[in-house]
Amino acid sequence: MLKVGMSEEIRKALQAVVERVKQAAARRPQTLQYVTPRLVAVSKTKPPEMVVEAYKHGQRNFGENYVNELVEKSTNPQILSSCPEIQWHFIGHLQKNNVNKLLGVPNLFMVETIDSVKLADKVNSSWQRLRAANTQRLKIMVQINTSGEDSKHGLPPEETVDTVQYIISRCPALHFVGLMTIGRYGYDLSEGPNPDFQMLLSRRQELCDSLQLPLEEVELSMGMSTDFEHAIEVGSTNVRVGSTIFGEREYPNTPSPEKKSKAVTEEAARKMEHLTVTEQ
Ligand SMILES: *Cc1c(COP(=O)(O)O)cnc(C)c1O
Repeated sequence: MLKVGMSEEIRKALQAVVERVKQAAARRPQTLQYVTPRLVAVSKTKPPEMVVEAYKHGQRNFGENYVNELVEKSTNPQILSSCPEIQWHFIGHLQKNNVNKLLGVPNLFMVETIDSVKLADKVNSSWQRLRAANTQRLKIMVQINTSGEDSKHGLPPEETVDTVQYIISRCPALHFVGLMTIGRYGYDLSEGPNPDFQMLLSRRQELCDSLQLPLEEVELSMGMSTDFEHAIEVGSTNVRVGSTIFGEREYPNTPSPEKKSKAVTEEAARKMEHLTVTEQ
């Protein structure tokens, strides 16, 4: 059971974000208005009850960044019975030894973080093996390391075209749907458009020109709690929003907000989220 008041808090926060997504979408230039951006509610570290609550209020797409946590949540009896139309997005770093486990997730909708040809091959062959021949291809995005930081996963931007070309021509069980980036934290928008988003936009353009793909068929997954409106305004079709919907995350072994400043706690949490953690 959720704490008293929590249900109401999630409903309000979700509705506010949905409204902000809608407003940002309306502010886009006419040429970008061909699609309604998808809101992915990032539920990592939060209990299944919160997922059920958001689902009750109309949310369908949810994101998780650890395979074990996604397996656990997606097979939670309450979620299985109350959320039949849930669509899970995997948004974390994927290691090859975890692919089979991930692909067994019920209602897995999309893997947003394919970042090498080898990983694409592995996911392709596993999906072929695990699913009967007549089921749908698995939707995947290619993650690009737009900020070039060592701490971030993702494909070097200059490898985008070759990698996507490979996936389209050699991975028949995969359905390439777009490009994803996390980008640098704490970018100050008063300095102009976020360069990570601009980089993803220009790589998509290059990709579409090189492979003659229609722009509308290559999605962009970019934008999180602090910058999803800006991301939508410049063309994001898939925003991943966690803390603004579900509240700040608490991590074991990180100082509690009462003891340390918020900035310190968040920094520690971010580091944990994006380190290469070897999962069991
Ligand atoms: C945690 C996470 C998010 C959501 O972050 P918030 O700042 O809480 O909105 C989005 N994308 C990825 C890849 C994440 O790991």
